[in-house]
Amino acid sequence: MATHIPEQPTIPSTISLPTHRDAYYGGEWHAPKSGEYIQTNSPGTGESLGNVANCSAEDMDAAIRAAKQGFDEWRRVPPLDRARILKKVAQILRDNAGELAMIDAADCGNPVREMISDAASAAAQMEFFAGLVTEVKGASIPMGPDVVNFSVRQPRGVVGRIIPFNHPLMFCAAKSAAALATGNTVVVKPPEQAPLSALRFAELCGDFFPPGVFNVVPGGREAGARLAGHPDVALVALIGSAATGRSIMKAAAETVKPVLLELGGKNALIAYGDADPEEVAKGVIAGMNFGWCGQSCGSTSRAFIHESIYEDVLTLVVEKVSYFRPGIPTDPETTMGAIVSELQYNRVLSYLESAKDSGARLLCGGRRPSDPRLATGFYIEPSIYADCTPDMKIANEEIFGPVLSMFKWCDEKIMIGQVNAVEYGLTCSIWTNDLSVAHRAAIEVEAGFVWINETSKHFLGSPYGGFKQSGIGREECIEEMFAYTQEKNIHVRLRQVGRNGTDG
Ligand code: NAD
Repeated sequence: MATHIPEQPTIPSTISLPTHRDAYYGGEWHAPKSGEYIQTNSPGTGESLGNVANCSAEDMDAAIRAAKQGFDEWRRVPPLDRARILKKVAQILRDNAGELAMIDAADCGNPVREMISDAASAAAQMEFFAGLVTEVKGASIPMGPDVVNFSVRQPRGVVGRIIPFNHPLMFCAAKSAAALATGNTVVVKPPEQAPLSALRFAELCGDFFPPGVFNVVPGGREAGARLAGHPDVALVALIGSAATGRSIMKAAAETVKPVLLELGGKNALIAYGDADPEEVAKGVIAGMNFGWCGQSCGSTSRAFIHESIYEDVLTLVVEKVSYFRPGIPTDPETTMGAIVSELQYNRVLSYLESAKDSGARLLCGGRRPSDPRLATGFYIEPSIYADCTPDMKIANEEIFGPVLSMFKWCDEKIMIGQVNAVEYGLTCSIWTNDLSVAHRAAIEVEAGFVWINETSKHFLGSPYGGFKQSGIGREECIEEMFAYTQEKNIHVRLRQVGRNGTDG
């Protein structure tokens, strides 16, 4: 039997932007009640991509009302019928992968050759959760022949999903899947820096669901905060910074609603002396996600290299990073995109300034590229610093930019202490041929997701999430589905009840 190899989507030569720029809820498009729109710009060129509604708390209230109404119907739809709709959505995502990737590349600055995989990744998550609908089981509890005691998992109600800018389409679609599959309705708040692909997704797929089931409300912090605090929202989930996570927890506390938080990271890559410097260097570069300027929560932005291979790895890392050259994000040849916004660009520059003062050894980058074609965008060359120490600002704080700090180590205990000394604990990548060493280190590091001799990749079914201030909850696995449900226990007494209420 021939193996089916999925076709690689083609990258279109032009961009088609969404026609609708308002909020989508209750199955219709609604202009913001304040009439306020804000311009969205391409970080790669500075060009305007048009206006988008800046929704307020009032708009969010209306969307939540629609989602609450939608819940009444959606929770009664048989799970396999919900799954059928999600599979249809997955197909539409695949069919429009190129177009959606172009929108994201223009709007968030990540290169289209990388974003081309995002729709397929979202589709895979849609199908994964669609396939698991009948696995959202309760339990039966043994209590003897005259009693049946069992539990069921029921949807929670309206779920708020607040999305960051780095993979706007993928997060909007994929992160709605588990909530929808389990019978919740969803209100998505896309990132203000890159709202267009979520609007296009609503144009393409919103109508597949009954009105109010899938809703998209573009806006900024005000709209997000309302979603987190609204009494009719049963659960709020964020992918974003730790600071936003803290605000959302506070808002959610007012109505005692659970939160799912996927937050930041200052992740470590650890290389032992027996590892092949060539493989380690490849891992260091891949783990940094330079293609999208390191703007990834899972990026291993601190590399701890054993002293015996340190200089070799530095040389190879500098050689290999030359593959990443900033360019216009919508050009299929571009290997590295732009920083999402002026605000974030200036933030990254301030870290480069602090690196200068800190005594870290600059290996490459540390500046914006000189190419005049890039003059109107927010570009920074891949920037790598050696001889970092834990007290340096660049080595401690999440930069969310193309800035890698490299450390030389010789004492394992001290090194592990430094790896664990940051407030985050999302990922860690360990490189050695000695599996007992790797396993010991994997147990010792404070991180929710550990690769050994691998980096960067996610695996559907494997729980992804953080220790410490990197978040609460796990995603991309069946536990994500369970998080969107609440358990109800039902106790049935089987003996007949007499007319007067006594046992028959
Ligand atoms: P951000 O926290 O600034 O914004 C994320 C979203 O939250 C946006 O939609 C924003 O409008 C909204 N928001 C901001 N303040 C809010 C408030 N007070 N109440 C409600 N909503 C609010 O993050 P960002 O700059 O868009 O993304 C970068 C951050 O996201 C980084 O810290 C990164 O590590 C993290 N991130 C984490 C993961 C993960 O899976 N762990 C993935 C991607 C990004």
